[in-house]
Amino acid sequence: MKSAPKNIAILGGGISGLTCALRLAQAGHAVTVYEGSEQLGGLGTFFEHHGRVFEKFYHCMLPSDGPLLRTLEALGIRDQVYWRPTTFAYAHAGKFFPLNTAVDLLKFAPLRFLDRLRVGITGLVGRLVSDKGLDDVTTVSWLTKLSGKNAFAKFWKPMLEAKFGDRYHDVPALWFWTRFNREKGESKGEKKGYIRGGYKHITDTFAEVITRHGGRIHLKTTVETIDLDSAGKTTVTTSKGTTTFDQLVITLPTPQAEKLIGPVMKAQMPALDTSTDYQGVINHLLFLKRPLTPHYWVATPQSEHPFDGVVETSTLTDIADRGARHVVYLTKYLHRSDERFSQPDADIRRDWIAALQKLFPDLTTDDIEADYIFRAPFVEPIYRLGQKKLCPPEELVPGTVFLANTAQVYPTVTSWNGSVMQAEKTLAAMGVKVMNAPSAATADRELPSASARLQPAMA
Ligand SMILES: Cc1cc2nc3c(=O)[nH]c(=O)nc-3n(C[C@H](O)[C@H](O)[C@H](O)COP(=O)(O)OP(=O)(O)OC[C@H]3O[C@@H](n4cnc5c(N)ncnc54)[C@H](O)[C@@H]3O)c2cc1C
Repeated sequence: MKSAPKNIAILGGGISGLTCALRLAQAGHAVTVYEGSEQLGGLGTFFEHHGRVFEKFYHCMLPSDGPLLRTLEALGIRDQVYWRPTTFAYAHAGKFFPLNTAVDLLKFAPLRFLDRLRVGITGLVGRLVSDKGLDDVTTVSWLTKLSGKNAFAKFWKPMLEAKFGDRYHDVPALWFWTRFNREKGESKGEKKGYIRGGYKHITDTFAEVITRHGGRIHLKTTVETIDLDSAGKTTVTTSKGTTTFDQLVITLPTPQAEKLIGPVMKAQMPALDTSTDYQGVINHLLFLKRPLTPHYWVATPQSEHPFDGVVETSTLTDIADRGARHVVYLTKYLHRSDERFSQPDADIRRDWIAALQKLFPDLTTDDIEADYIFRAPFVEPIYRLGQKKLCPPEELVPGTVFLANTAQVYPTVTSWNGSVMQAEKTLAAMGVKVMNAPSAATADRELPSASARLQPAMA
C-alpha cells in the first residue's frame, strides 16, 4: 500500500542525497534537499574551465555499475553514457609497465619471476574464492599468504598505503576482494564509461526531475543542527531558521553528520557508529597541450612520488567534452590531519609538477595550459576488521531519521554506484519501492565475469 505523503528533508546534495530525493519525490513525498555548497554532486562536483565543465576529482563508470546505470535510465540519460577501452600501467624506476593481461604480468620486471607468478595466482584465487570470512581477515595477511612476503612488500603494500596511509594494517580482505572483482573488467579488456556533458549533466538532470516532482533544492544552505522536537518530529536548522519535517535522511559522511545531531536525537540513535574515520584526497588537475601516456591510470605508489597515481581521463573522455586539451589528475589519498593535506597550493604545484617531470622528462611547463588543486577531507572510510558489523543501519531513529552515506557502502566500492545502491537500501527501509531497482544481492551478481586480467585494482 502506498504510504501517505510525508514532508522529508534530505541532508546533502551528493549522489546519495539526489537518489533519495528523486525516488521520494517520485513516490509523492514533499522533499527538501539541503546542500551546503553552491553545487550539487558532492565529491562528483565540477568547475568551469574555458567554457567547459570538468570534475574536480576524476570520475568514471564501469559496466558493472548496474544500479547507477538504471538510475540514469530512469532519468532518461543513460544513452548519453559512452564507453572506451582503458588501460592501467605501473611506474617503476623511470619505466612504465602495462598491467592489463597475464602476459603483461609475466613481463613485469619490478618483481622476481616467482613473485609475478604468485601475484598472478592471487588474481586467480581472488576471483574464484568466495568472500566468506574475509571481513575478519586482514588484507595484509590474505595477500601475504597468496602472494608471498616479497610480492606483498614490493607490490601490494605500496598500493594499500597509497589508499590508507599507515592505517592499511587493519583493512579487511573483503574490501580488497570486492575492489578486485569490481574492476577486473571483461575478458575482452577493461572498459570505462563517461557521460556526455560530464557528471554535471547527471546532477542537472536530477535537479530538473526532482523539482518537476515538486521537490525543493536549497543550495548554499549549510545545515547547522538537526534534532527532534517534543512531538517527535525532526527539525533542521540552517542560518535561515528552523524547519520541521516528518522524516529526515542524512547523507553526509558520518564525522560531518555527527557534529549536527542535537541531544534529543543523539539519545535515540545508539546505532550510529562514529568510530569510523575517513581518508581525504588531494587532486592536482593539469590541462596539457599533449598527452602523457596512453593509460587511464598509471600507479606511482612508491614514496619518492608525492602522488600515488597519474589519471589521464582524456584517454576516456571525448574531445567534445574537454576540447583539444588533455586532462591529467595527480592524486594522493591522505588523512585530513596529515600536514601535507594543508600544504599551500603553491608548494603542491611546485613539488608535484617537478615530480611529474621526473617521471616524464620531456614534459615542459609550456605543455601545461593550466592547473587546479582540489582537496576533499572525507572520501574513503578507513575500514577495520569486522567492518560489516560497524556499518550503521539505514534507520537511526525508528520511522523518523534515516541514513544513506559512504560509511554503509562497504564492502561495495565507494563510488556513485555504491551510493545509489545504499540509497536504495535506505529507501527500502523507508518503505519506498524503487521501480526496476535490483536488490543489493542482484546487483552484486552483476559483477563482471571472470577474466585473466590481473590489474591490481587500486584506483
Ligand atoms: C578522487 C576521487 C575519485 C573518485 N572516483 C570515482 C569514480 O571514478 N567513480 C565513482 O563512481 N566514484 C568515484 N569517487 C567516489 C564518489 O565520488 C563518492 O563515493 C560519492 O560521490 C559519494 O557520494 P555521497 O552522496 O554519498 O557523498 P558526498 O559526495 O560526500 O556528498 C555529501 C554532500 O553533503 C554536503 N554537505 C556536507 N555537510 C553539509 C551540511 N552541514 N549541510 C548541507 N550539506 C552538507 C556536501 O557538500 C556534499 O555535497 C571518487 C571520489 C574521489 C574523491
